[in-house]
Amino acid sequence: MKLILLGAPGAGKGTQAEIICQKNHIPTISTGNILREALKSGTEMGLKAKTFMESGQLVPDEILIGIIKDRLQEDDCKNGFILDGFPRTIPQAEALDGMGIKIDAVLDIEVPDEEIVARMSGRRVCESCGASYHVLYKQPKEDGKCDSCAGALVQRKDDHPDTVKERLAVYHTQTEPLKEYYSKQGKLLVVHGQDAVEATTKLVLEALEDLT
Ligand code: ADP
Ligand code: ZN
Repeated sequence: MKLILLGAPGAGKGTQAEIICQKNHIPTISTGNILREALKSGTEMGLKAKTFMESGQLVPDEILIGIIKDRLQEDDCKNGFILDGFPRTIPQAEALDGMGIKIDAVLDIEVPDEEIVARMSGRRVCESCGASYHVLYKQPKEDGKCDSCAGALVQRKDDHPDTVKERLAVYHTQTEPLKEYYSKQGKLLVVHGQDAVEATTKLVLEALEDLT
């Protein structure tokens, strides 16, 4: 299964991606995580991306297209993959189409802006592996510690309320047009994000039923 996850920042793409990827044994490719890794290890790409990311802006298309082109050529992508956070602009989607990869479906998780702002303040991520948690909706087994790697859970700089508003504005102007783009290709599946993660997962798995 070759799947794209679409939705506003904080709509729960990453959480659903993890679940789908475990069920189907295909990798999740999170461009946000790849960029944060690059930033942490101080690579040239990381340095270039830093200011865009911290202010809630998108990193330039050519950087992202390069990342994805390389990543999708790796062996583990042969049987499928889930893209979490790519494409985020029309030029990125066109570049992906140009790579000759046939995407099966684009799953759009819809969550109203007000809810996003409220949710994001409670989001925490693992400093070491990037797994995400929430102080109300997805608590770790042990306070402040990642379930899978015991790394420290921290708030991302770009999860502060002002940056979240900027990221939402960027989402609406630059990413949302992808809904029409993929709807025209007959690939768009829409799911409404619920408060409980499991409730959203149920809808997601129903929407993907015919694909697996
Ligand atoms: P979220 O968890 O809010 O969906 P991500 O972790 O996917 O956000 O991405 C964090 C930041 O990384 C974005 O705000 C943006 O600056 C950058 N980024 C990630 N993916 C892309 C992309 N496809 N195009 C441009 N910038 C990106
Ligand atoms: Zn971890």
